[in-house]
Amino acid sequence: MLIAILTDIHGNREALSACLAHARTHGVDRFVFLGDYVGYGADPACVVETVAELVEEGAVALLGNHDAAIEDSDEDMNSVAREAIRWTRAQLGPDHRAFLAGLPLVHEEGSVLYVHANGYAPANWDYMFGPNEALRHFSRVDAQITFCGHVHVPMLYNMSPTAKIVSFAPLADNDIPLLPSRRWLAVVGAVGQPRDGVPAANYAIFDSAQQNLRYLRVPYDAAAAARKVREAGLPEKLAQRLEQGR
Ligand code: ZN
Repeated sequence: MLIAILTDIHGNREALSACLAHARTHGVDRFVFLGDYVGYGADPACVVETVAELVEEGAVALLGNHDAAIEDSDEDMNSVAREAIRWTRAQLGPDHRAFLAGLPLVHEEGSVLYVHANGYAPANWDYMFGPNEALRHFSRVDAQITFCGHVHVPMLYNMSPTAKIVSFAPLADNDIPLLPSRRWLAVVGAVGQPRDGVPAANYAIFDSAQQNLRYLRVPYDAAAAARKVREAGLPEKLAQRLEQGR
């Protein structure tokens, strides 16, 4: 089965549409969303509606920290993120808010774990920024393969049976075999706000039969998404991030 894994869409309708179309032309069977549908971007309601429709058709959707901040406190966020969350709250109706409030933090399928931030304390939103964080994850989580987002930069970590951590920035469009002799933590880059200097949207396809993972980059109309951010009166920095991919 081919599973498309999308995360950190952040109200970016153009990026989401491009990734969904790309995944469908590649014969994807299922969608798994790792959270952060809202915050930063100008189309939060449209993104929530699109994901909710896919969930009706069998997709899995998890909770992200920006989704949680719609109902909870936004005090821990930086000022730009907080301003965007306050703007976003006014864009969402009761149905959007109920959908977000009902999302689970984790999803497990056999030896595969899906989560927004990390497997050991999903509601604390610790970032998997590097090998030390990956080691903490592996030492506290049993899953052989974990998929997370939250960092907005694609990375892949694995741990050998002797607890040696190997990390690398995966190239797009390569099939990477997730060897069963190792444990894997795949950080999927952001659909809607990439931060590695490349504006193109990120997502990944996991072939669960072959145990292969492919990271993908999908060019989309980032200029249109940035223009909408400016027209909405959201912070200028959020428009620039889309244009620059950082
Ligand atoms: Zn995010």
